[in-house]
Amino acid sequence: MTATTQPTSSEVVTVPFITGDGIGLDITPVMCEVVDAALEACYGGRRRIAWLEVLAGERAYDATGSWLPEETLEACRAHRVAIKGPLTTPVGGGFRSVNVALRLALDLYACVRPVRWFEGVRSPLLDPSTVDMVVFRENTEDVYAGIEWPAGSPEAKKLCAFLIDEMGVTSIRFPQTSAFGIKPMSQQGSERLIRAALRYASDTGRASVTLVHKGNIQKYTEGAFRQWGYDLAAREFPDVQVKDVIADAFLQASLRHPGDFSVIAAPNLNGDYISDHLAAMVGGIGIAPGANINYETDHAVFEATHGTAPRHAGLGEANPSSLLLSAAMMLEHLGWTQAADAVTRGLATCLRLGLVTYDLAADPSAALSTSGFGQAVIEHMATQE
Ligand code: NAD
Repeated sequence: MTATTQPTSSEVVTVPFITGDGIGLDITPVMCEVVDAALEACYGGRRRIAWLEVLAGERAYDATGSWLPEETLEACRAHRVAIKGPLTTPVGGGFRSVNVALRLALDLYACVRPVRWFEGVRSPLLDPSTVDMVVFRENTEDVYAGIEWPAGSPEAKKLCAFLIDEMGVTSIRFPQTSAFGIKPMSQQGSERLIRAALRYASDTGRASVTLVHKGNIQKYTEGAFRQWGYDLAAREFPDVQVKDVIADAFLQASLRHPGDFSVIAAPNLNGDYISDHLAAMVGGIGIAPGANINYETDHAVFEATHGTAPRHAGLGEANPSSLLLSAAMMLEHLGWTQAADAVTRGLATCLRLGLVTYDLAADPSAALSTSGFGQAVIEHMATQE
């Protein structure tokens, strides 16, 4: 660590954290411990996080009767940066998804998912070392807006009649039994997401931004996303190379030639598929980090990208890597780059040496526990820079 990067006075940042459900209870305490160790190693107590536990998901419901208490949203708004473990999706009633509700409530329009390969992690690719992408997925529009009606409902019948009688639609194959969903996609919503991707590419010297869309079929939504992207780039980021590819072609091309892609900007549904597809190429969702960010308000929630894995909950065996790498993204976001690098370096070293949890272990009997892996990460952080 160089003298110029030392903080001049003590900095303490309050970070609300949601432990999460299921394996959240196993991985979140380990994440806090590793982050604290990285801060101590890099800044010797001059930069610290004051962890503030807030509730969401099943634990919140059991304690308060609400899946997403207002106090949790308030804490995330007030402190701007938060981190969360995985949350159970309520079945039947309540929120469609607590994660989606949190993103919508804070207008966290960009879901940012870096995808890179770590040496030592098994991959289905012949050469995973060329995978180095960052996905910017739009988080607030598209079919995730939840505007849909079940087949046979009065609303579906009303909409169907409107489409046929007043809009002249003739292509509803089975009107009596059709459910309907609406896909809103706006210029503002698309532009702010694509702008974030372009700015990231420009700031980090990335080779290109690829717009991934289904504009060949959905001309006025996804096709517009593509055109708005090109127009925006020409106006605001003329030096960034922009290209586009149809979503299905992207799935093949990214597998065969991953080195051709760098920053990806995609509407919500494409981005959802793509994020997990790319994660699978480099070891799966157990090690894929993610963040949900609004670059105007500066609100950000960093998160494990996997679910609650109920079968493994409470066994102390889950892999905390996704949450640890998300915490590294959070430290980077706070400008505490050395601590971010320390976490990533410690984790990368463990993966390279085969010090891993059950899901990545070649020999399951030699797998580390969740906390054992956390300790190994701490031991392999280089303390001097
Ligand atoms: P999941 O990601 O919880 O688990 C699928 C499988 O992946 C698990 O059985 C396990 O084998 C493996 N796995 C996942 N994370 C792992 C880790 N950290 N370490 C080791 N192995 C891991 O997906 P699911 O079973 O479809 O969903 C379970 C619950 O989680 C549901 O309620 C779902 O809605 C919720 N969920 C939440 C989020 C989130 O909070 N971001 C994301 C996805 C699913």
